[in-house]
Amino acid sequence: MSGYEEQIKRRREEIVARVEAALERSGRSHDAARIMAVSKTVDVPEVLAAISAGYRLFGENRPQELVRKLEGLAGEANLPEVRFDMIGNLQTNKINAVLGRACCIHSISSLHLARAVSSRAERRMASGELAAAQDVLLEVNVSGEASKSGFSPDELRAGLDELRSYRGIHVIGLMTMAPQGDKNIARKTFVGLRELRDELVARCPELELGELSCGMSEDFEEALEEGSTLVRLGRVVFSPSFELK
Ligand SMILES: *Cc1c(COP(=O)(O)O)cnc(C)c1O
Repeated sequence: MSGYEEQIKRRREEIVARVEAALERSGRSHDAARIMAVSKTVDVPEVLAAISAGYRLFGENRPQELVRKLEGLAGEANLPEVRFDMIGNLQTNKINAVLGRACCIHSISSLHLARAVSSRAERRMASGELAAAQDVLLEVNVSGEASKSGFSPDELRAGLDELRSYRGIHVIGLMTMAPQGDKNIARKTFVGLRELRDELVARCPELELGELSCGMSEDFEEALEEGSTLVRLGRVVFSPSFELK
């Protein structure tokens, strides 16, 4: 085993222990959340090392990179089944590249994008190229930072009925990014996401919003304590020099 592979394997053990401890602190079961390895800054060999360390779920923030990683892995023999999700900003002209390739698109940030993804997915379903509606998450700008994309909570409340009418997408939860640098503000953001989810489900019980995608390298423990079901970890997974505090 290469030195890098060994390092990220040891790091994974540390991350898993932290994840389990955070879930336990909040009275949740050990399998209540999954770990995504965000591979946007690394290459195929690092992804292979991560697979051998035990990661099975990967995230990319650019369509071209997602396709490149999938193609890079396609030639590998005896790989366990891994899945890639799209977690970054998606432009409408790149939708076709990720439809069906990304298991889930975490970054549906507007009604316009939701409609565009849905209509392309419906077309592919009609032609038999896509077996089922595309799983997606709705990205919410809980913190209200101008630099962040996503639905504002009010936009989401107002757009819910329209979103439910889109047949090409299957909305399975919400996603957010917390402001970096202050864990208390991050925690408030995660609480806000959970409360918004609870409010939307109370209003529309047939909605399934089980997935809460939140928590990154600097704040995943806070996110897990506040209900995250999927933490998206980049630096802490792939950079041995990232300090796990
Ligand atoms: C890069 C990225 C992450 C991971 O960030 P780290 O702080 O390196 O863990 C998570 N989510 C999204 C959307 C990202 O772009």
